[in-house]
Amino acid sequence: MKPFAYESARDTETAVRLIAARSAAKFLAGGTNLVDLMREEIEQPDLVVDVRGLPTAAIAASPGGGLTIGAAATNTAVANDRFVRERYPLIAQAILSGASGQIRNMATVGGNLLQRTRCAYFYDRASSCNKRVPRSGCDALDGFNRYHAILGASEHCIAVHPSDLCVALAALDTTVRAVGPNGERTVPFEDVHRLPGDMPHVETTLGADELITAVEIAPLECARRSVYRKIRDRSSYAFALVSVAAVLETSDGVVTTVRLALGGVAHKPWRAVRAEQVLLGAPATNDTFDRAAQAELAGATGRRHNAFKIELAKRAIVDVLAELAGSGGAR
Ligand code: SF4
Repeated sequence: MKPFAYESARDTETAVRLIAARSAAKFLAGGTNLVDLMREEIEQPDLVVDVRGLPTAAIAASPGGGLTIGAAATNTAVANDRFVRERYPLIAQAILSGASGQIRNMATVGGNLLQRTRCAYFYDRASSCNKRVPRSGCDALDGFNRYHAILGASEHCIAVHPSDLCVALAALDTTVRAVGPNGERTVPFEDVHRLPGDMPHVETTLGADELITAVEIAPLECARRSVYRKIRDRSSYAFALVSVAAVLETSDGVVTTVRLALGGVAHKPWRAVRAEQVLLGAPATNDTFDRAAQAELAGATGRRHNAFKIELAKRAIVDVLAELAGSGGAR
């Protein structure tokens, strides 16, 4: 590991000032991804600014029934929070489907948003990877790409975002609050993460000197009945092949509210807008769910090892929606 300086920040202003003063500085929270990347010398900061001591770990109901989660809240704290479990169970389900208990105890919500892909070629410095070394190539294109993207990818990168929590947040109306040298700003969650295009090394729209302080989730009464379903190669400690986060409300058999997002399929948490357009106002039947899934995956592209994920994603969407509608499961 390359030697680096360490500072522990006591307030957000200091943390941002320390980071802004150095071009190769990084915020350190739980360290569950950054430290691994530093050990592999994929990340080589000359300064890490520890933000674990900042007073940004609160989890609180907001006026009107929404939820504010401080960036320093651990995944375990969020998953165990009573309000989260009652009002947004998909968030707790998503967190508990990821990593291990020890990692969830350390990992924070802010870090969860900023974690980097687990593409094996990204971690292997002997491989070509446009994300690690811009314009060096992408060995995943013709390599082992079982875990790679089927939606929104480019010829420069087919990696997926690894977070489960972010898929649940993408399905809700979420805003991210961040503080930088120019003050505080809020960013709609769907605008935080980028598709790869020809710059896969630029993963978010946040500056390197901007510190996430909280995520704010809008009230959504029907999210009390919500589901996060993760399909993976083994039942624990594995990343998603495909995951689905869903909220569905019906009245007289017609879909009145729907929120749907997919994980394991794209460079960013994937809000399934096309599927939602099919679903809204339509009968809550398996036929409708199937049409919605077909619409969402119509633009999907499979590669040698991951083409199966297109059908898998369709079936997962139908199954989750059928469960929420009480229409007896898909197939
Ligand atoms: Fe790198 Fe992306 Fe290609 Fe993986 S898919 S090797 S992260 S450029």
